[in-house]
Amino acid sequence: MRPFSKTGLLPEEIARFGADPAGTFAANLCAVQDRIAAACHRSGRHPEDVRLLPVTKTVPANVLRFAHAAGISDFGENKLQEARDKQADLGDLSIRWSIIGHLQTNKVKYLVRLASEFHALDSIRLAEELNRRLDAQNRDLDVFVQVNTSGEDSKYGLRPDDLRPFIERLADYPRLKPRGLMTLAIFSAETDRVRGCFRLLRDLRDRAVAVHPGLTQLSMGMSADFETAIEEGAHIVRVGQAIFGARPTGDAFYWPGLAPGA
Ligand SMILES: *Cc1c(COP(=O)(O)O)cnc(C)c1O
Repeated sequence: MRPFSKTGLLPEEIARFGADPAGTFAANLCAVQDRIAAACHRSGRHPEDVRLLPVTKTVPANVLRFAHAAGISDFGENKLQEARDKQADLGDLSIRWSIIGHLQTNKVKYLVRLASEFHALDSIRLAEELNRRLDAQNRDLDVFVQVNTSGEDSKYGLRPDDLRPFIERLADYPRLKPRGLMTLAIFSAETDRVRGCFRLLRDLRDRAVAVHPGLTQLSMGMSADFETAIEEGAHIVRVGQAIFGARPTGDAFYWPGLAPGA
């Protein structure tokens, strides 16, 4: 039952997203786009070369209808189960789903059914299973190889030293269309350390592209650091909280190993 307001929102949803989520999301989206444009301008880049991927994790499906009404139709989800549930609820809307978080091999069949792209390829086992399932469905998938640029145990991704041998094997999986590299920077208030992660990914990309010409793009930058990421060459920024507001779950929920409350 959703009898609480004419928008059909529950009281806790109004507390989190406001009484006019479509208006709020549209305004936040504009503000983020302005900041992207300003970061591009500062670094001599064209705003058209940077794609904003809105990250919708933890935002309930009924609230995402307001996001869709506000013009957002690319949804980035970190957990496959959550994406599946939302896709089932929002089947009447035209939405492009991107899976941006670590994937277990036993979930691959679901990813292949729903996702347009995958940003967290980080093992040969996963590449193999993805290729097998994609082949059965007779489709290809855009993928980004995730690299752990911060050296933190809490982050997924290949170690920088393991990237080259990994990329050399990707040709064995022709259903995967490698588009670039992805990373999460260190969570730190020190911009230099954050910037260092993005620079490392860019340097790795410069070397990777010599091995695999498709690996041109950089998926890097989130709400806290997307401007720095753009200055360092990001092509895709994955932004959630700056558009949809703070998440009630701390980041430790998504990146186990972080200090609680982080
Ligand atoms: C949650 C998440 C983001 C977005 O983080 P925000 O702080 O909401 O901008 C980006 N990338 C990945 C992989 C995520 O899980």
